[in-house]
Parts: sequence; C-alpha cells; structure tokens
Amino acid sequence: MDDECPECGASIPPTGTCRDNFDTLQAIEWSFPDGVGETVHYRAVSAYILQHPESMGYSQEAFAALRSALSDNLHNDVPISDCRRRMRQKFDGETRVQRQPCDPLPRSQTTSWPVTVMDLVLASPDKEEYAEYATQWADSVLEELRL
Ligand SMILES: [Zn+2]
Repeated sequence: MDDECPECGASIPPTGTCRDNFDTLQAIEWSFPDGVGETVHYRAVSAYILQHPESMGYSQEAFAALRSALSDNLHNDVPISDCRRRMRQKFDGETRVQRQPCDPLPRSQTTSWPVTVMDLVLASPDKEEYAEYATQWADSVLEELRL
C-alpha cells in the first residue's frame, strides 16, 4: 500500500518522502531543453512550499508573504522578479524564512488538495501542458488557502 504525504496527500515512494516527488518534478523541469521559464518554475515551487510549510520549515510570516507574492503573480500579473525582490527585502537579515523551534507552524484547514505534486509528475512530458498544470496547481493552492 502506498504511503501518503501527511501534508499534501500525494502518494510517496515506499522508502521516501514527498520531497522525492519534488525532486522528480525538478528533474522534469530540467529535462526540457530550454527549461520551463522562471514564472512556471516559481509557481510550481511556491505551490509545493505552500502545501508543505512544516517539512519546508517556513515561518508563518514567510508562508503568508509567499502566499501573497504568488497571488500577486497569478492574479495581478506582478512579475516574478518583483515577487522575489519582495521576499528578499522582507527576509534578509534578522527576519528569517525558516521557522525557529519555538515558532508556531503555519497551517491551513485543508486536508485534501485538489492538485498535488504528483499530478505534475504524472502529467505528459509536454512543456505547454506542464506550464498549464503548474499554473492550475498554484491557483488551486491559493483557492484552498482562502477557505
Ligand atoms: Zn506532499
């Protein structure tokens, strides 16, 4: 029986974690001769992080900032370069992205996500389709977090 990721519900390898699925996703992105582009990459990575705040070690503040930046990219056409700059400005120096041991966990009420990393891993290896799935994934994560 397949194990399920406790954070996103995707099936995970018998001796692995969902991070292995994420690594596979990154390998898929690298397999495209010209890559997938920074916007598609950003959306996929952000969606994964927002579904995995515990294992990715994000603080509540960093989680909220990433969620806001992704939403601005998807819904307000804010360029990725601006999203990254905002995160860098907020989390350089004293303010850390990583949660400290005493910090509370960022959590959502969501227990079942409509799209997970496995939907992209199992999608056909077509760059356009990958880009479409990555955007759908990011959009579905923001939708679920809004509940
Ligand atoms: Zn997962």
